[in-house]
Amino acid sequence: MQTHILGYPRIGSQRELKKASENYWADKITLKELLETAASIRKGNWELQRAAGINLIPSNDFSFYDQVLDMTMVVNAIPERYHDVILKEGKTELDLYFAMARGYQKNGLDITAMEMTKWFDTNYHYIVPEFTKNQKFKLFSSKIIDEFKEAKREGIITKPVIIGPVSFLLLGKEKGEDFNRLDLIDSLLPVYLELLTQLVAQGAEWIQFDEPYLALDIDEQAKATYAKVYKAIHQHFPKLNTLVATYFEGLRSNVDLAVSLPVKALHIDLVRAPEQLISVLHKAPIDLTISLGVVDGRNIWKNNFSESIEIIKMAINQIGEDKVMIGTSCSLLHSPCDLDHENKEETLTPIIKSWLAFAKQKVEEVAQLKKLVLGNATTGLEELSANKHAHEIRQNSSLIHNADVKKRVSNIIESDARRGSKFEARKVAQQQVLNLPLYPTTTIGSFPQTKEVRSWRSQFKKGSISEKEYNELLAEETSRAIEWQENIGLDVLVHGEFERNDMVEYFGEQLQGFVFTQNGWVQSYGSRCVKPPIIYGDVSRPEAMTVKWSTYAQELTDKLVKGMLTGPVTILQWSFVRNDQPRSVTCNQIALAIRDEVEDLEDAGIKVIQIDEPAIREGLPLRESDWKEYLDWAIKAFRLSSSGVKDETQIHTHMCYSEFNDIIESIADMDADVITIECSRSQMELLDAFVQFNYPNDIGPGVYDIHSPRVPNKSEMEELLIKAKNVLPEGQLWVNPDCGLKTRGWEETRKALVEMVSAAQAMREKVAASVE
Ligand code: GLN
Ligand code: ZN
Repeated sequence: MQTHILGYPRIGSQRELKKASENYWADKITLKELLETAASIRKGNWELQRAAGINLIPSNDFSFYDQVLDMTMVVNAIPERYHDVILKEGKTELDLYFAMARGYQKNGLDITAMEMTKWFDTNYHYIVPEFTKNQKFKLFSSKIIDEFKEAKREGIITKPVIIGPVSFLLLGKEKGEDFNRLDLIDSLLPVYLELLTQLVAQGAEWIQFDEPYLALDIDEQAKATYAKVYKAIHQHFPKLNTLVATYFEGLRSNVDLAVSLPVKALHIDLVRAPEQLISVLHKAPIDLTISLGVVDGRNIWKNNFSESIEIIKMAINQIGEDKVMIGTSCSLLHSPCDLDHENKEETLTPIIKSWLAFAKQKVEEVAQLKKLVLGNATTGLEELSANKHAHEIRQNSSLIHNADVKKRVSNIIESDARRGSKFEARKVAQQQVLNLPLYPTTTIGSFPQTKEVRSWRSQFKKGSISEKEYNELLAEETSRAIEWQENIGLDVLVHGEFERNDMVEYFGEQLQGFVFTQNGWVQSYGSRCVKPPIIYGDVSRPEAMTVKWSTYAQELTDKLVKGMLTGPVTILQWSFVRNDQPRSVTCNQIALAIRDEVEDLEDAGIKVIQIDEPAIREGLPLRESDWKEYLDWAIKAFRLSSSGVKDETQIHTHMCYSEFNDIIESIADMDADVITIECSRSQMELLDAFVQFNYPNDIGPGVYDIHSPRVPNKSEMEELLIKAKNVLPEGQLWVNPDCGLKTRGWEETRKALVEMVSAAQAMREKVAASVE
């Protein structure tokens, strides 16, 4: 019985790779220094797995930016526009690679970056391969072989991790002439075979092909391609131990296909889809090894040894010990690195810490499970009982259980998640109170988080300024923002969110049931990392969270100030969530806490309240047949958070970077009075969904892109508004930027919003003129 992991985080436990890459991009360190940092991370990762006793240690799980982009380089699928980086600029292969990831603007060249998108349903983003009709591939980057050799020099024969050819094609996009990217398999496969030849020549015995699409909804052509590809690989390398890895979902109806592939081993994710075990074991042919992904690669909870041992023993009983492997459910890329670096007991108490396992601890768990399963009656008893103990403590801890919260959730009734009146009636009631012009203007919430604002926060955290001083500084900044918004003539103002670090962290810090780590970073894309909070217990709100700043701002002006909250689904989606109850229950708990906040804001005189839900779309399950169930509870949780108010109180929501077409019905079902959405980049294309669906409530289609410092002018925004007006009733439209302005500077923000307000005025004048 062998142990392995599917991959280890490469960012470094102190984010060494992030820092080195950013310094390299800024010309602050040399290529040599960057390469040294990378090599030392790889070596550290291999060593810690060797020390833990892992049998098959992965290589090529390292990446300077993204593993899909690595594969694009390996098979030379480099779009033509980047060729000049080498030809004209004489740059290195690594610089070319970074140019593809980040774009290249130098010496008169202006090459845009390749597109980036979410890696299945994780918060990791990969670089999307671009394929053209009749594309040719050839072996280009030797990264996979180099890393294999590098580990061999350390005395480790690794298991190279390679994105399987079918998933690699499916991850990409067709460009130019119409064709199906799976048709490229005949020119791609020989390159994989060539790569395998070289790896085998170097002494590789195992290869892991990541084929997550095998666990998704795929069509007949994809299925046939799977059969063909793995047959060919087997024919060429009958003795090579090939492992096909699936994760993030169960095989479901693809199980027959999966077990029929002529490979040595099949990996299945038993954390996400434990129910697939029975049918996989039942259907597996006699010589197929099954790798059991029992240690959760995507969450931070300690493995439950008793449960895992039961699963492993059951598999051994059915297919024999030599046919069983133990592994992580997916790559540990999605876990923070090392729990040993968490030592701030005030926040992450020793008890809660004893419930957790990060990547390094998960590696140890995999190795321990093998010992526990294979050992005699006395081996590892101590470890086993310590593990049991931690789970019992967690299960029964008063830290995680709050009877009032549980009772409130179980008492939720349908009408709690519905506004008192229908939108048409609310709209009339709101207009009487709010008295807004046509084309009302607003922003999405945050104003620039300048160096000063951030330095106040860090000084306050360090204790070099007092809470009083900190709050005074924030108050001044807020009041400047209010005054300025009044002056330029915005209709619905915001307080600016200067007091907030991050839209989830700010609420998590004030809610019961959340903890925060110091170093729990997870790679989001390239050198970007996020540090998600951990939801460990029942969620409740000890006191109001935003009322102070919202009322402070409202008292400064006669104009409306919008209250600003993060919605329950987004808080859930961007956290590590407890695994001892359904996500929907946790989501409802958060929803009730937000609902209380909404009501407190209303009581304090706030008449417009925005509940941001940028992550609703990304929570969508990978299998379409599961969408409905998710949407039902997610949308309801939003409504639960927003429906406790009077008709007159106007609820806004905001969403960004999503395609809405396939879930527009559910978005309408959120029943927010106003939705502001990101859509200026696609020039209002996104609005199509809203138009076709006949979306009933008010809409603020973003009229300018906040992701770039470029200042848009009045007429281009006016043009977008005219486009919107041509397809939607005028009375339904709001005018706002795409998203929050916290990453922008004040100078461009001021100019852009002045232009935006005059674009709205121009629209109103047209209406006035046509009435006369
Ligand atoms: N209110 C938040 C802000 O303005 C919204 C952020 C988001 O949509 N991601 O920053
Ligand atoms: Zn946004």
